Amino acid sequence: MFKKLRRIANPTVVEQRTVELIGTPVTYTLKRTSRRRSIGLRVDDRGLTVNVPLHSSEKWLHSVLQERAGWVVEKLATWQAKKPVQQQWVDGEAILFRGETFTLYIVPSLFDTPPQIHDNRLIVHASRIDNPATIAEIVEQWYRREAMKLFTECVEHFAPLMNVIPREIKLSAARTQWGSCTTSGTVRLNWQLIKMPLYLIDYVVVHELAHLVEMNHSAAFWRVVGEVCQDYMKMRGELRKWSPSTE
Ligand SMILES: [Zn+2]
Repeated sequence: MFKKLRRIANPTVVEQRTVELIGTPVTYTLKRTSRRRSIGLRVDDRGLTVNVPLHSSEKWLHSVLQERAGWVVEKLATWQAKKPVQQQWVDGEAILFRGETFTLYIVPSLFDTPPQIHDNRLIVHASRIDNPATIAEIVEQWYRREAMKLFTECVEHFAPLMNVIPREIKLSAARTQWGSCTTSGTVRLNWQLIKMPLYLIDYVVVHELAHLVEMNHSAAFWRVVGEVCQDYMKMRGELRKWSPSTE
């Protein structure tokens, strides 16, 4: 008698591979799963992921990859361009604040003091000037304080115009979201928005406040947004050029 083979529900086999696409070596994640019947390609901030049926042939995989090579390379380039510049927290570096670029100017000091803007400089007095982590902490704390101040002003400006009463405003550090809103009225805004021009911050605030009227992205929701922000389509497009960086 044969023992009945026990089937594992939806097994997924994952491996890292490299393939040459239009002369460029591309590393990708290959996921084999019994749930799939066709080959699916996805490109996002983590790179290329190829989802294939559990027992698909190498030949099939190869032909799909070559067929979609142009699309993959183009998508990867778009994501690459969106990647935030890794801040080094060193003297002379560019610092973004409310859509403007300032030069980080680090001054040795006995105490750490909150940064100050002077002309096109962001002046930071720090006790440990050679420690990027210290500079990062000083500037990020300042970013968060400024963010909270500005976001509160924006909410206080737009909420009465939109006839909504948010319960509280909180700062978030979400990796992929600029803002969110709960049914109980908590509006969360990503502190990194403070790096953007005011009109984009306004748009995100209006967007989240509109969720207090419509908890979805329906036509009715966009009408609420459009009443106070006529250019919302343009803003959405511009916002896509920015991406919340990981901390
Ligand atoms: Zn939304």
